[in-house]
Amino acid sequence: MSSGTPENPLRIAIVGSGPSGFYAAEALFKSEQTVHVDMFEKLPVPFGLVRSGVAPDHPKIKNVTRVYDKIAANPNFAFWGNVEIGKDLQIQELQTYYHAIIFASGAASDRRLNIPGEDLPRSYTATEFVAWYNGHPEYRHHQFDLTQKSAVIIGQGNVAVDVCRILAKSYDELKQTDIASHALEALANSQIEDIYMVGRRGPAQAAFTPQEVKELGELAITDTLINPEDLHLSQTDEAELQLPDKAHNRKNMEILRQLSTRTTGARTRRLHILFFYSPVEICGSAGVSSIVLEKNALSGEAGRQKALGTGETITLPAGLVFRSVGYRGTPMPGVPFHEAWGVFKNEQGRIQPGMYTAGWIKRGPSGIIGTNKPCSYETVEQIFADQAQLHCEIPRSQPLADLLKSRQIQVVSYADWQKIDALERAQGEATGKPREKMTAVADMLAALK
Ligand SMILES: Cc1cc2nc3c(=O)[nH]c(=O)nc-3n(C[C@H](O)[C@H](O)[C@H](O)COP(=O)(O)OP(=O)(O)OC[C@H]3O[C@@H](n4cnc5c(N)ncnc54)[C@H](O)[C@@H]3O)c2cc1C
Repeated sequence: MSSGTPENPLRIAIVGSGPSGFYAAEALFKSEQTVHVDMFEKLPVPFGLVRSGVAPDHPKIKNVTRVYDKIAANPNFAFWGNVEIGKDLQIQELQTYYHAIIFASGAASDRRLNIPGEDLPRSYTATEFVAWYNGHPEYRHHQFDLTQKSAVIIGQGNVAVDVCRILAKSYDELKQTDIASHALEALANSQIEDIYMVGRRGPAQAAFTPQEVKELGELAITDTLINPEDLHLSQTDEAELQLPDKAHNRKNMEILRQLSTRTTGARTRRLHILFFYSPVEICGSAGVSSIVLEKNALSGEAGRQKALGTGETITLPAGLVFRSVGYRGTPMPGVPFHEAWGVFKNEQGRIQPGMYTAGWIKRGPSGIIGTNKPCSYETVEQIFADQAQLHCEIPRSQPLADLLKSRQIQVVSYADWQKIDALERAQGEATGKPREKMTAVADMLAALK
């Protein structure tokens, strides 16, 4: 019997409830066919990095979840929260209940610097710091020693800027955000005075976006310092900035120039933006105490300039180091994985007929939330192209629900999530925050009983 009809709907499992999972569901529902979508999420709460990555002081960006609420309201959609694929349910089991699986599980791990001292105490990844201040249950017990005087952030993408901004903001600036209360408390007692954000190339190549860098000039208790000499551009840089895809770099230069001419000295913390340096060693014995950086020079044609070490080094005091050099996907048993790229092997989202992928685990950790929409739509096209070959042995959800119950898994539905959402908002209202996030899975599940 052909699938995609009301009698035999096309049954799709989506693993992961971040943006790419929701956009895949949207693309499936926009087709002419009858499609049932079951979305599996390892946490009891949805939205992936929109909840646990996007900075707490950027509330407007999180409004995108209203779009996801509308997708979830489709009667053919079901959320299976608190179910981890690969642990609570194996992929082979999932395959019997669905015509196809879309892996939209994101990139939860991080790239390494591969330099000496990287694993010293107080050398952290941005990934874990971000997840901690955003109240991700797996990171709530992490400790960050904020009694140190200086912190060095390696990387100059938007995540690095987020980390700098959170370290640079005062309690009063953070208290009205949805930052996790454990993080707010720890940051309120922060002793950090100097924050360094280090990039291996120059200001014309920096990966941060204009809006993010602009905010660094609007901090209440932190001065942002840039060496004006770093802003002198070479001829190659000038040529690079004229390239059509460099509009954001041109704007960045404008903002950096404005920042570099501001009067400073009145604030208690300093954020130093350092260009043309790569870390070569993190030093210390019981914990990080300094970091050695090598000065770089750029080489190559406009648009493809690479940073090459000059041999000249400087040493910065560093009580804390945060490595922010990119997220990385992790393998799942039974899914072909590209070790070097940290993604599932795929062509336009097709891993093999019946198995597909979307979002960061498909293409790597790049782009903004909206980038995931065309990415997921492309993946869904492959499913429809393969449809004639796709089979589903057990075309109903009930046996799956029974199976999970027999494994003592408390499945969280979308209506359950909405109860958690309402509770978090109410809790937040009491303290002037948009929400007070629950950070323990046990508390979330208990709230539903
Ligand atoms: C720190 C940070 C800040 C960002 N800020 C912005 C911003 O301000 N604006 C912007 O536009 N973009 C921002 N982004 C980018 C944006 O968050 C990503 O583009 C987007 O979240 C990627 O979506 P995704 O669905 O591929 O992955 P994710 O959002 O990571 O979602 C993956 C989901 O899969 C779940 N999952 C993983 N494994 C399993 C499993 N085995 N079983 C079940 N579920 C599983 C995870 O729990 C997660 O919920 C930011 C990213 C980061 C890291």
